[in-house]
Amino acid sequence: MSHLDYSTEVRKGKHLTYEERIKIEALSKAGIKSEKIAEQIGCSGRTVRRELAKENSHEFVALDEHPSMKKVPAKAATCTEDGNIEYYHCSDCNKNFKDEYGYDEIANIVVKAAGHTLGEKVAAKAATCTEDGNVEYYHCSECNRNFKDKDGKEEVADVVVKATGHKYEDGVCTVCGANEPVNPSDPTNPDNPKPTGEVSGDGKLSTVDAKWILQNIAKSRDFSDEQSKAADLNGDGKLSVVDVKWVLQIIAGMRDAETLELITK
Ligand SMILES: [Zn+2]
Ligand SMILES: [Zn+2]
Ligand SMILES: [Zn+2]
Repeated sequence: MSHLDYSTEVRKGKHLTYEERIKIEALSKAGIKSEKIAEQIGCSGRTVRRELAKENSHEFVALDEHPSMKKVPAKAATCTEDGNIEYYHCSDCNKNFKDEYGYDEIANIVVKAAGHTLGEKVAAKAATCTEDGNVEYYHCSECNRNFKDKDGKEEVADVVVKATGHKYEDGVCTVCGANEPVNPSDPTNPDNPKPTGEVSGDGKLSTVDAKWILQNIAKSRDFSDEQSKAADLNGDGKLSVVDVKWVLQIIAGMRDAETLELITK
């Protein structure tokens, strides 16, 4: 850069060179405070302020050496991809700078990828008939991805091992021994007898049974599972006055005790 003669504008204190004047202008445009600029130039803050107050200070921008300067926004690095700091790029001289006037050249704008932040190995867990398990994996707390290896080289898309479901044979799961559930509305299943309404244990359906069921509904009498099943005449899975009504209808001959259907005459 040629050193133009600005000696006519020399004032008390430090003589500002052409480069210094441009630099003051540029740093000020970049939002740097006068005192800070003065520190960089090595002059007083007053000199800087006086320089900036001058009417012709805008001339220096026109003398910009880097007319194609473009701001490149900062980009955060991810675990695997480099990012960059904010910088200005001049496509004419192909250099990068901290400021749009091209004062502070930056050698390196790259923010290196940090690599994964993997936690302790998560042990494999076998899936059961009813509960999901997982493969062995490592979890990155930064990118929330999972990996097969502790170096985070091979990603695991899905660590879950789905529950296998029961494998029933003759009504029993061959893996965990669970009983195969029976269809509660299946009257042909001998393990699940049809409700009779007979809960008092005297072998016959009477108003005593109706009373007991009412007492159970009112929570003044406890039923065993068998009693509860026997009393649930309409098979809705709970005891209510409907079941009591059905008991009374059976006793009155209005409802068939076998089919539990209403008798229509
Ligand atoms: Zn340039
Ligand atoms: Zn990561
Ligand atoms: Zn099972």
